[in-house]
Amino acid sequence: MEQPRKSRQRLPDHTKTARISCPICGNDEEFLEVADGVILTSHYIQNPDGSFTQDDDESEILGEVKLFCGDCGADLTEFHQHFLDMLF
Ligand SMILES: [Zn+2]
Repeated sequence: MEQPRKSRQRLPDHTKTARISCPICGNDEEFLEVADGVILTSHYIQNPDGSFTQDDDESEILGEVKLFCGDCGADLTEFHQHFLDMLF
């Protein structure tokens, strides 16, 4: 059920090095990624002394993931795939 987070197939070559900038305010530095319907699951091990150690942490995104301008809040979801491709 998990969506692949990265796909390099859909991005045309000429956009690969282009920087995203907000068409509304021109911001090209700060961006917000917002995910709907996220289930966070943390796996804990109880130690012999009763304390707990976090063993694993996984999250599942059920809803839509959107990208917003970090400055004016404009919806930049159309650039999200590009954002993922450039995320290292
Ligand atoms: Zn903006």
